[in-house]
Amino acid sequence: MKIAVLAGDGIGPEIVAQATKVLRVLAKDGLKLEMEEAPFGGAGFDASGDPLPAASLKLAKEADAVLCGAVGGPKYDALPRAQRPEQGILRIRKELGLFANLRPAIMYPELVGASSLKPEVVSGLDIMIIRELTGDIYFGEPRGRRDNARGEREGFDSMHYAESEIRRIAEVGFLTAMKRGKKLCSVDKENVLETSRFWREIVIDVAKKYPQVALSHMYVDNAAMQLVRNPKQFDVIVTGNMFGDILSDEASMLTGSIGMLPSASLDANSKGLYEPSHGSAPDIAGKGIANPLATILSSAMMLRYTFNQDEWAYRIEAAVKSALAQGLRTADIYEAGTKKVGTQEMGDAVVAAL
Ligand code: NAD
Repeated sequence: MKIAVLAGDGIGPEIVAQATKVLRVLAKDGLKLEMEEAPFGGAGFDASGDPLPAASLKLAKEADAVLCGAVGGPKYDALPRAQRPEQGILRIRKELGLFANLRPAIMYPELVGASSLKPEVVSGLDIMIIRELTGDIYFGEPRGRRDNARGEREGFDSMHYAESEIRRIAEVGFLTAMKRGKKLCSVDKENVLETSRFWREIVIDVAKKYPQVALSHMYVDNAAMQLVRNPKQFDVIVTGNMFGDILSDEASMLTGSIGMLPSASLDANSKGLYEPSHGSAPDIAGKGIANPLATILSSAMMLRYTFNQDEWAYRIEAAVKSALAQGLRTADIYEAGTKKVGTQEMGDAVVAAL
């Protein structure tokens, strides 16, 4: 298993160092993996004037999976658009054909107090949102400004989904549901949008291959409401780019802390880019206080979704739970009565638990 490690900027190198430390422990224990680092984002720009240097892209293409920290920072904010660190992320997603974004929202019992919802609504929560990442109204053409028939200026975008795009994301939805609770909810706006009507038709067709999975459909407005009313009714949600963008952010906040949230972006062969859901947190970079758990949990997702090593993934997740159960907390999840630790100590605690 060859992993390209692109730590990036800000807290990126600090949190990625903890995840690679965890992976190295597993390697000593028999997991066969190789890791190679390369500059990316602002660090890529500093090294070679490009947020996605050619050598880093080559490494990412040759690897089986990519582990990223985060990119960006005030130092790079004034650069022209093409050289901004965030362009590196968009380009690598495109270059690697990463069309499926998986974002779990898991409530750890120890962190129930961090959620803005009542404990009984969120305790035990474990859902997975799968967002299509490369199509929909975000990329549809034509788009732009024009004069409409009444001679008034208007802005417009185009929503469309090709059958192949819906089929491949639906497959990811069903396969993910098969690995979990075998319940899939497809979210659309079928009562209003032609694109959604087509989406639903194709999802129903793909479902024939997966009779073990209970498929349901929900309108996006209702899904937004149900996520805060009764989120535990969901197991896996699959949806388009725009609906998924909004719902995955909503779901992530059910769990209270951005420092705990991993993510995966997969291609058609389950090659993936794994990264925490948060950014490079320039406000705390270099202070040794960032929460490394989202990145460590991203490496667990890598073992599960790219390498099909469920048992190793489970070991990492159990070690994270154990560190939390011991009362250890980084500053972002700290509550009175727990023990505040830094980035490295939290990584060490996960290693010790492993
Ligand atoms: P951010 O996620 O970096 O930070 C938001 C807040 O959350 C900050 O207060 C930060 O200190 C805190 N935070 C984030 N991660 C944390 C962690 N692991 N532990 C503890 N606290 C944490 O979002 P932002 O401030 O809007 O963006 C900062 C930079 O990150 C920008 O340059 C932005 O473009 C970039 N960004 C990159 C990615 C990516 O690499 N995929 C994603 C989002 C933002």
